[in-house]
Amino acid sequence: MPLAGILRYFSKDLAIDLGTANTLVFTQNHGIVVREPSVVVINKLTNKIEAVGSEAKEMLGRTPGNIESIRPMKDGVIADFAVTERMLEYFIKKAHGKRMGMITRTRIVIGVPSEITQVEKRAVKDSAQRAGASEVFLVEQAMMAAIGAGLPITEPSGNMIVDIGGGTTDVAVISLAGTVYSRSVRVAGNEMDQAVIQHLKRKYNLLIGERTAEQIKWELGSAYPLKEELRMEIKGRDLVEGVPKTLTITDHEIREALAEPVSTIVEAVRQALERTPPELSADIMDKGIVLSGGGALLKGLDERLRDATGLPVVQAEDPLASVVLGTGKMLEDMELLRKVSIQ
Ligand code: ADP
Ligand code: MG
Repeated sequence: MPLAGILRYFSKDLAIDLGTANTLVFTQNHGIVVREPSVVVINKLTNKIEAVGSEAKEMLGRTPGNIESIRPMKDGVIADFAVTERMLEYFIKKAHGKRMGMITRTRIVIGVPSEITQVEKRAVKDSAQRAGASEVFLVEQAMMAAIGAGLPITEPSGNMIVDIGGGTTDVAVISLAGTVYSRSVRVAGNEMDQAVIQHLKRKYNLLIGERTAEQIKWELGSAYPLKEELRMEIKGRDLVEGVPKTLTITDHEIREALAEPVSTIVEAVRQALERTPPELSADIMDKGIVLSGGGALLKGLDERLRDATGLPVVQAEDPLASVVLGTGKMLEDMELLRKVSIQ
């Protein structure tokens, strides 16, 4: 093995996407090693962590009184510092396995929301250091999404990325490794789930949980008429009779239920285009708009945006992983990392 390969094998450097909905961790040697929901379940009596990640998400809405499931990141900001720190520590340890601490120098690059405050930055850095990092760099998620999606962000040319996560939709225009325009709106995946819940409550007096709403969105949700009709049988609680009830719903009504959050996202993109300097808009016209984040998987969203802007729209290859893949690239490009890392 060449020396570079050997060094890489023993490298403990990590790239982390600290998302509102999902946290992902990448190592140069193994690629994506953690890909789990940003959820923690805590026993309120003992303050002990009962579960983190996928296991914790399964428990959402199913916990007894003394056990609380928490999403410590909300709307692209840290809503609960202490729990975020414990979650971050847990994922870092999981990514490292038992080898943590054997080698002293561990760099950790963390993709954070663009609207993060100084206090939150400090908190993220401190917790990564407590979990064993010798050096911590913070980078903007939108910029990382653009890199992860393969956009040539270091060139003097406009790149537009629209990252639709759980809590926020971030629209950014990037050129020469700098952000020319960026805006974050607090409407994304969670808001769509809530729209589904409200719709079923209003139309059928049916109460469903967040998990079910998300599944309905995944299966039936769309932003543009589909070629074939989709149907799904769902279960919930009848608000009038108070008993469990089953009913069949279609893609058509869920599309209507999602109309408001989807329009907000379309508007945010249009506004970004209006505010982009003309030379850069010309570049975006040629290259198109790139969609990342889990929300990019909503059926027909690309078509809807194409319709609304007249521009080419492409989905990143693995939209849920764009940010962590971009952040991972920073591990091998110190020069770019120093340029784009935020203080
Ligand atoms: P974050 O960066 O905030 O952690 P992610 O990029 O991980 O968010 O995206 C999570 C969001 O994407 C969730 O709201 C989830 O429901 C949504 N999502 C995932 N897959 C799909 C899909 N196939 N269709 C619609 N939304 C999806
Ligand atoms: Mg994200």
